[in-house]
Amino acid sequence: MKAIRVHQFGGPDVLRLEETPDPAAGAGEVLVRVKAAGVNPVDTYIRTGRHAVKPALPYIPGSDAAGIVEAVGSSVAHVRPGGRVYVGGTITGTYAELALGRADQVYPLPDRVTFAQGAAVHVPYATAYRALFRKAHALPGETVLVHGASGGVGIATVQLARAHGLTVIGTAGTEQGLKLARDAGAHHALNHHRAEHVEAARQLTGGRGFDVIIEMLANVNLNDDLALLARRGRLVVVGNRGTIEIDPRRLMRCDGTIHGLMLFNATADELASIHAALGAGLANGTLMPVVGREFPLSEAARAHEAVLEPGARGKIVLIP
Ligand code: NAP
Repeated sequence: MKAIRVHQFGGPDVLRLEETPDPAAGAGEVLVRVKAAGVNPVDTYIRTGRHAVKPALPYIPGSDAAGIVEAVGSSVAHVRPGGRVYVGGTITGTYAELALGRADQVYPLPDRVTFAQGAAVHVPYATAYRALFRKAHALPGETVLVHGASGGVGIATVQLARAHGLTVIGTAGTEQGLKLARDAGAHHALNHHRAEHVEAARQLTGGRGFDVIIEMLANVNLNDDLALLARRGRLVVVGNRGTIEIDPRRLMRCDGTIHGLMLFNATADELASIHAALGAGLANGTLMPVVGREFPLSEAARAHEAVLEPGARGKIVLIP
């Protein structure tokens, strides 16, 4: 099969298209013919070799994909050859024509969801779900700020929160991103590059503040976020690319809580439950992943550059 392989950690140029042996499904495993693979920012961090997850070299990047079941090993019953599926994590990596997963990493893909959309589910939606409902315990009727609502996780968070009955304020950095946030269900959208967006966000809550804040760039926004929390507000740090000084008194003032989140820390049971919820939302149409750009597999390096550029417009996927 053709696959992108990394032989040494480094810049995007270490992503090489190569011919490699086809994997085969053993007991409890599923082989998937990949129709689309999701590109996540974390794939670029892992590629540099400076992330907590450091795979043995050489490796095939990627955790997210959607496609058709090619073969199943013994004791796999929930999917069959020829079935449409999406994957969340694999044994072999997803930037390839074939990906091998454990049975519990492979989920049915409803007919209404395209393969490209299916490749946009796992990391973004499982992270968004875990942040909203497992960390912040968001409740219907509460108000959430999705600080960074135009990218993979942000759009997922907006859709999940809106479907759950929250009032949703999202932010983005471009007109296109603001429209995406509104289209995903945000009641209001604000530009996070304008300093006045913090006060504007507070005004939208009638001065009360947010019950929940899901933060995509904590090193920029965390101290402002703390001033925006309502009493007993919960803030979840999903994205962070540096350090920041905060005033802890802002947290004391509101009995607030800051949660860190790393999807890799989710247990197998937690992921099974989260994907049951996501599968239901995909099937009934409340969850509709937004794919902004598709690149051929051979252009994985360009996709890695694009995923870190400002001006997010949904997911970037690779097509083998
Ligand atoms: P993405 O698709 O590239 O989106 C990035 C988002 O960050 C966009 O909405 C972008 O908005 C926004 N952003 C840029 N500048 C911002 C600012 N000053 N304030 C607030 N938001 C800003 O990435 P993603 O997949 O959604 O992931 C978002 C972040 O979460 C990344 O840092 C990623 O590494 C991290 N993440 C963490 C986990 C975890 O387990 N903790 C899981 C998934 C993702 P504009 O481009 O419109 O400005």
